[in-house]
Amino acid sequence: MAPSLYLHVPFCPHVCPYCDFHKMRRDERLVARYLDRLEQEIDEQAARYPGRPATVYFGGGTPSHLSDAELARVVGALERAFGFPGTVETTLEADPLTFDPERLARFRDLGFDRLSIGLQSTQDPVLRFLGRAHDGRAAMQALDWALASGMRVNADVITAVAGQDAERDLRTVASSGVGHMSVYSLTVEAGTPFALRGVVVDREREADDFELAAPVLAEYGLERYEVSNFARPGDESRHNQSTWRGEPYLGLGPSASSHLPDGVAGAGAFGTRLRNPPIRRWLEGAPPESEALDAEGVVVERLLTGLRTREGVDLDRLRELTGRTPEAMAPAWWRDALRHRLLEVEGPRLRATADGLARLDALLRTFVQAL
Ligand code: SF4
Repeated sequence: MAPSLYLHVPFCPHVCPYCDFHKMRRDERLVARYLDRLEQEIDEQAARYPGRPATVYFGGGTPSHLSDAELARVVGALERAFGFPGTVETTLEADPLTFDPERLARFRDLGFDRLSIGLQSTQDPVLRFLGRAHDGRAAMQALDWALASGMRVNADVITAVAGQDAERDLRTVASSGVGHMSVYSLTVEAGTPFALRGVVVDREREADDFELAAPVLAEYGLERYEVSNFARPGDESRHNQSTWRGEPYLGLGPSASSHLPDGVAGAGAFGTRLRNPPIRRWLEGAPPESEALDAEGVVVERLLTGLRTREGVDLDRLRELTGRTPEAMAPAWWRDALRHRLLEVEGPRLRATADGLARLDALLRTFVQAL
């Protein structure tokens, strides 16, 4: 199986104070060097892992902040090296202020069939607090244009913001007819401007907003299929599903990570994780950091991603792959989680219950601590 591709574009029109992704403002000389190095990396990786990917995902940063000519150059390099677009799904992340109907048509002509919009909220005070450049009207205009373009569309929404009416945001976005929504609680990561300003997220508000998302979005046909992701049936993100299932993916660009499971060339017996360095060292051609997984590491990874999803984790496959089970690795944790109905087992599938999903971070933390 050819790995799926994730391509990181680190440039943003502005920098949001809560963001801890690898991103920076656009600088023409840096963009030129980035594109040169990216083309080189694309050719190097295609020589190792040839074949057309099922899914391609341009994330960031803000990929739509590249010009049409720059995007065409990247797409051309992928096309020559791997084949492009992906056979199943090809996504572009986009900021609401970076496109109009004409530009959306050009995205489609390049081969993108899915647009993921960093919408975040429809309420002006919330957007101002989040440091976003767009207002609620521009957000909804961008969403309407995207839906009219014929592309599949995701809208990101942030909840748990002080003063936000989260239910109104969820309803306003969902009633547009969008087929996919990603709903994240605001988090304050160390080192971000929000952390330096001492912004604190109200835990009660966070829990309330988490609880209301599933029933509210279900009214619009959007079902939770991952703890933060909701879709109409058939409109799930194939790219994300594949990474959550532990399938191979290749990261291109600064700070991008890759997962090469066992059986993929260059991977250890239980698979290898790679992470490209940040932009300065990546431009100089520094190699990625590499971590060979052991059997225990694979179980931890599969639980960390699989328990976030409605599919859950296939315990038979995990045992086949690693010779381990979470039950044998942490028997007391396992018993407690089942007794308190945080986890459930159905056939070979292990899943988090609704209560388990609401406490997932703590549940996974205690699993790792029990090892
Ligand atoms: S646009 Fe997205 S990637 Fe860029 S700074 Fe804001 S949140 Fe971060």
